[in-house]
Amino acid sequence: MRTISHFINGRHVEGTSGRSGDIFNPATGEVQAKVALASRAELRKAVEAAQEAFPKWAAVNPQRRARVMFNFKTLVEKNMDELAHLLSSEHGKVLADARGDVQRGLEVIEFACGIPHLQKGEYTEGAGPGIDIYSMRQPLGVVAGITPFNFPAMIPMWMFGVAIAVGNCFINKPSEKDPSVPMRLAELFLEAGGPPGVLQVVNGDKEAVDAILEDPDISAVSFVGSSAIAEYVYSKGTANGKRVQAMGGAKNHAIIMPDADLDQVTNELMGAGYGSAGERCMAISVAVPVGEKTADALVQRLKPRVEALKIAPPTDPEAAYGPMVTAAQKQRVVDYIQMGVKEGAELVVDGRGFKLQGYENGFYLGGSLFDRVTPAMQTYKDEIFGPVLQIARAPDFETAISLPTKHQYGNGVAIFTRDGDAAREFASRVQVGMVGINIPIPVPLAYHTFGGWKRSAFGDVNVHGPEGVRFYTKIKTVTARWPKGGVRENPDFNIPTMK
Ligand code: NAD
Repeated sequence: MRTISHFINGRHVEGTSGRSGDIFNPATGEVQAKVALASRAELRKAVEAAQEAFPKWAAVNPQRRARVMFNFKTLVEKNMDELAHLLSSEHGKVLADARGDVQRGLEVIEFACGIPHLQKGEYTEGAGPGIDIYSMRQPLGVVAGITPFNFPAMIPMWMFGVAIAVGNCFINKPSEKDPSVPMRLAELFLEAGGPPGVLQVVNGDKEAVDAILEDPDISAVSFVGSSAIAEYVYSKGTANGKRVQAMGGAKNHAIIMPDADLDQVTNELMGAGYGSAGERCMAISVAVPVGEKTADALVQRLKPRVEALKIAPPTDPEAAYGPMVTAAQKQRVVDYIQMGVKEGAELVVDGRGFKLQGYENGFYLGGSLFDRVTPAMQTYKDEIFGPVLQIARAPDFETAISLPTKHQYGNGVAIFTRDGDAAREFASRVQVGMVGINIPIPVPLAYHTFGGWKRSAFGDVNVHGPEGVRFYTKIKTVTARWPKGGVRENPDFNIPTMK
């Protein structure tokens, strides 16, 4: 059976820990490969290779680093089909969606091609007599990224695109469920002219994560995954003196005002709620229709659409979505549906019985729709992360805005309305990091920045865009004096001021 190893110092390196994990084909349920799970010693090898590569890479001028990023972008584009198939075969998302996963990552690489401009410092001429002040943004050194299963191309590129372009060496610890695309990206980076040791992949589980968090030579850690692990990574990483940004889970609400175009809203909710089997951190998982009339009309429109969802193998171009990533992930969602029924929510469409002929062992799950979900329910409080849309009816705008505002998560939110004033007030008051106005999945483009609030993100600095440049660099400020006629002789014992 094929084994996915590590990519260290520009080479595939066999795992030596003796531990490995299964990689499934979610479409059939079969184990298709094994992934090596790294020990501390293996992680350490990558850190040492990165340390060796760092001074040279940091000294490469920004324009040359940008050219490597540009070559990498071209190579990823050339290999788009292969990457999308590989991604889809391990994750289960449909091919068009897999291409989107790669494409959204590539947009960060495009952003990173502008690094000569983005990494410029500031300069003040004549801050004092013969004194100039200037600042520079220098790379941190060796940095690491721990990434989730649901965007195996985009999320590593969110991180390493910026980290590497500014001069760091990056170690990716991908999800052990679908590590092949991150491995392929590292190979392509080498082919693009990236020196060995600048982008490496160490596969593994908690042991590799703990090794990253405890390694004294890793300066910063980016994490994307569930909130419990994000919090753990943030606390442990910062306690060990690292800079950490840790993005967590989500429960994204869509508020539907009575004046919204309900046919349009129904289309948007279908895509945002069920696309990629709901395994997106920006998926809409709660619809909040305002007023009973809006709610009844929405449920009436959604029910037949959810029942008619085409769930099929990811290679079927007609499929709305494919299988879930693993049997365990599917079971978790099934358990939440059961819990919702017990809690008294109204199960309008039950996707649990779905079976696909010829693919009985695949991890397929039909779409489910709950109505009359309330904030007291556990299924409302938790992230379900599956093809389940919950409807929480709200009598008025104030109740509707309070739901996402009070929720423990604050990743994305959307409002559908024709009323500009209501939309403007909503965007200003809602306590959520990314807001869509008649846009269901408001993932900012690469030159803006991504990040949630509350338990959806731990740390102060967002991902990619100018915030990403800030995260992966430290500022050095130089105050320089070149006095005419030499330095004065008498010491000054007081703090220098500009009086
Ligand atoms: P996960 O938390 O299970 O895994 C994420 C990473 O952490 C993986 O690399 C995994 O190997 C590692 N990990 C898992 N358990 C660990 C442990 N006990 N100790 C140390 N490391 C551990 O997340 P997932 O299931 O891969 O991804 C889905 C989650 O990610 C969802 O909660 C989703 O909302 C979230 N997500 C968030 C964003 C965002 O930007 N906010 C984006 C994508 C996904």
